[in-house]
Amino acid sequence: MSPNTPAPLDFDPTDPIALTQALVRCPSVTPAEGGALALLGAVLSAEGFNVERPIFSEPGMPDIENLYARIGSEGPVLVIAGHTDVVPPGDLAAWTRDPFAAEIVDGVLYGRGACDMKGGLAAMVAAAIRYRRENPEAPGSIAFLVTGDEEGPAVNGTVKLLAWADQRGERFDHCLLGEPTNPATMSDMIKIGRRGSLTGKLSVQGVQGHVGYPHLAQNPIRGMVRLLAALDATPLDAGTEHFDPSNLEVTTLDVGNPATNVIPSQARAVFNIRFNDLWTPETLAAEIERRLREAAGNAVRYEIAFEPTNAVAFLTQPGPFVAMVAEAVEAETGKRPALSTTGGTSDARFIKNYCPVVEYGVVGQTMHKIDERVATADLKTLERITHRLLKTYFATPLQS
Ligand SMILES: [Zn+2]
Repeated sequence: MSPNTPAPLDFDPTDPIALTQALVRCPSVTPAEGGALALLGAVLSAEGFNVERPIFSEPGMPDIENLYARIGSEGPVLVIAGHTDVVPPGDLAAWTRDPFAAEIVDGVLYGRGACDMKGGLAAMVAAAIRYRRENPEAPGSIAFLVTGDEEGPAVNGTVKLLAWADQRGERFDHCLLGEPTNPATMSDMIKIGRRGSLTGKLSVQGVQGHVGYPHLAQNPIRGMVRLLAALDATPLDAGTEHFDPSNLEVTTLDVGNPATNVIPSQARAVFNIRFNDLWTPETLAAEIERRLREAAGNAVRYEIAFEPTNAVAFLTQPGPFVAMVAEAVEAETGKRPALSTTGGTSDARFIKNYCPVVEYGVVGQTMHKIDERVATADLKTLERITHRLLKTYFATPLQS
């Protein structure tokens, strides 16, 4: 089947479980579209959404298919964002179920992308369709912004899709991003921001020589230990109201010395910092450079380089929209979710340049793992939460 000619639907698109199954059965490992966006497009256009499928390119990278769909022509515009691409399944023999069969066993749906994030996207699409069927004259607009390039280089995905929509005059008031945010149960957590990420590469120069004649050599490991200890000695900060303290982790330390009687000539280390809203990549790099300078004095010859990063820390102020999402979760689960900024980066860091963004989705425990899975009950809960949010959102105009 060509990805652009999906078969007629053989399921009800307001059923989040059936829609998740249909999406999981599309093998959309980045950068392959796998039929997933075609399926979503067919489902949404059958319900009256205007669907577009921009393809973005970059020299040396695979072309990426994306999807933008909207129903309604007026504000407010609530945009629901997500991705249909998935990471590779890994060792197929290790899976207890076919990763692209979407089998349901004892109320659990198995498959690559089940929780990250075809399940979340399917539940939100199902909710939007149900809401529009029940309220065909509803005010405002619902839009879907879906990329096929979140798990890959993320170059031909959300960044370009947002710019593309902006150029066409699309304006968004609020965004719900359906990444899996819950650690264990559906009432655990919504995300109102993300930490930034900065990677540094440090090298220390020494002089190679015989371990028995250390006065003729200079061991770079000694200098490296001193520098890393200085980076680790004082916390970067104590955290802020909505963020944990910034954290530096040394991720590798390499000398590459196979001999036991040779002092090596160079030591290299890489570290990654997940930082909060007290820092920008620039101020943080300056602080790291200051600590290194101080620790090195004239004794250690070193070089430090930082990788370019587009992962800045951001916070969506807990205002009426955040409260509305939290209330919808509480109404359907009986428990108020925590507002969190933990975890890795996400496409929310690009969306926040256009409108306030809140992340909420299914339980993320098995994302990227062997036997990735989602409870079918959670898909139903997420459908109900999204439906409730849509009802409240379009009944209660918010200042964006
Ligand atoms: Zn994801």
